[in-house]
Order: sequence, then structure tokens, then C-alpha cells
Amino acid sequence: MPGAGGRISLRRHGRAGGCTPRIEGGLPLIDPTTCHRGIFEIDGPLPGYAFPTTVSYRPVSERLWTASDGIYRSVFLEGDEGVIAFDTFWSPAAAASYRTAIDRVLPRRDVHTVVYSHDHLDHTGFAYDLAPEASTVLAHEDAAQVIAARGSDGQRPATETWSGERRAFAIDGAEFELINPGATHGSGNVAAWFPDAGALFMVDTVIPGVGYTFVPDWHLDSYLTNMRRLEALEWDTFIPGHFWPVDRTGFSENLAFYERISEAARQALTEGVDPDDYGAVDAWSRERLGQELGRMFRFEEYIGMNVMRFMVHHLTGGWGLEDAGGARRGPL
Ligand SMILES: [Zn+2]
Repeated sequence: MPGAGGRISLRRHGRAGGCTPRIEGGLPLIDPTTCHRGIFEIDGPLPGYAFPTTVSYRPVSERLWTASDGIYRSVFLEGDEGVIAFDTFWSPAAAASYRTAIDRVLPRRDVHTVVYSHDHLDHTGFAYDLAPEASTVLAHEDAAQVIAARGSDGQRPATETWSGERRAFAIDGAEFELINPGATHGSGNVAAWFPDAGALFMVDTVIPGVGYTFVPDWHLDSYLTNMRRLEALEWDTFIPGHFWPVDRTGFSENLAFYERISEAARQALTEGVDPDDYGAVDAWSRERLGQELGRMFRFEEYIGMNVMRFMVHHLTGGWGLEDAGGARRGPL
């Protein structure tokens, strides 16, 4: 495995924590008793965080690559000297797998910069495991504040922040722009635009098929309006944080799905469906929307959750400052 030995010793020297990879059967394994633990405070191993994942990769353009373990996805950029990695994957072991993929494409290079998409640990929680040598961790200031306050083990605080809606970056010969279209999902969630590659990367917003909006931190009041603003940019390929890239039609169809669900949720409330009765919401959703939307990826799994979430949103008006009145209607 090219570069593997060098990479491991680099980690040992570079780490801030105590996560020491060991070699077993020729493979680097992360010791779940000593590696980063996120916000878990239990006293014992966390084998779920040591689960090895297989990360595949493919080029998007001359400098831009995308990597995925089948469920999570990210991108990395080849600089003149080193590598700029976006996000870290979802665990210490997954971060190590992501690094292995980068090392295969660009062996013996430092990952000198890590760019965070947003604050959530399952995407940006493990920069210390991915790239202990990184000199720069870049995040929008809204994400950086949450990350600093959270203090999660393994989630490296930003070393550099930016504010506002748009900022162009030229790092180590690679150029991209970060764009914060307004509140969508998480805190300080930004899109990365690569005009030369005709690609836009953004996490946990547009996801092929029926992604779920059920858990908190989807700011439904402004989510769709703010995401639609990104359609004004020139790009052909949208690279999401999960599953596979889509074209402009796929991007628009995904947002149209949620617009339709928002409307369906109002209808369900009008008809007296109990928003607290998941079985009733799920049954109503399958019956009313199955024919129209049932072909969509993961419809069966998530349609009830999506309709229930929008029903509760309509009843409460949303949660917190980010979720009430956050829609931005002007051009980017
Ligand atoms: Zn997220």
C-alpha cells in the first residue's frame, strides 16, 4: 500500500490526542480504546467509531476528486504542493479510510488544509484523525462558533474563519469559492463552488431521492428558498454529502420534492391527521403520495418522517432564530 507506513508515523507525531493506529494483518487499525471519542463519555471502547469503511474515489476534473464510502461523500482538491480536503467523514476510522483514498490518488502529500462544510460531527468531527499535519482548518464563522462551544473530542476548531455570503479562495494553486446561501441545515453550512470543474458541493441539503429532514437542525422555514438561490450559479454537477452526484435537473427535483411535501403536510393537517401519530401520518403519506412519488429512492423509508416533520413545522413555526424568518430572497 503506497505511503501507508509513512502516513502512520506521521499521524503518531502529529496527533493532538491519543489515538494510535496499530498494524494488524498489514492493515492500520484504530484502537477504539484510545482514539477520538466525539461527545461520547462512556468509559470503554467505541467499536462503532473504529469500524473500517471502504472509500472509493474518482476524478471530477483535473484537480478535483470525489470520495465516498457508499453513504457519505466528500471532495478533495490537488494543490501544487499538497492537498485540500473537504470534511473528514463520520468517525476516526472513516477519516483514516478517507485519508487512505487521498493517499492513493496523491501519495506522499500533506493535507495542509481541511475545509468544513458545516458543524455536524458525522461530516467534520475528525480532522485530527484525517490530517494531523494540517496547518489550516477553514470554516464559516457560524459553524466555527458551534464547534468551539461543543468541544467534541477529535473535532478540531477552525484556525481560519470567514463571514458573510461569498468568499473566493486560492490555496496552493487551487481555486474555489465558498457560499453561504443562508440557513439550510446545521450551522454555517456552506456550498463549495468549483467553476473550472462545473461542480457545486454541499452537504446534507440536496440528497438524491427522499433524504430525511426529520431530525432537528433542518431549518425548514428558509431551507428551500435559500437552496434555490444556488441555481443561479453556473454548474453542471452537484456533489452531495451522501450517495451520488446529480445534475441540475436532479437538484431541482429534490427541492421540488420537499416543496411538495410541505404542501402535503398542510393538507394532512387540514384533513385532521394527528401529527403526533406516526403510524397515521405514514399511512396517509403512502396512500396519498405513493403513486406520485413512490419511485423516488428511499421513499418507503422516509416519506412518513418527512411529512410528519413538515406537519410539526407548520404547527410550531419552526425552532430558534435560524428557523424563523431566515429566508433570503435576493440574488447571491
Ligand atoms: Zn449535517
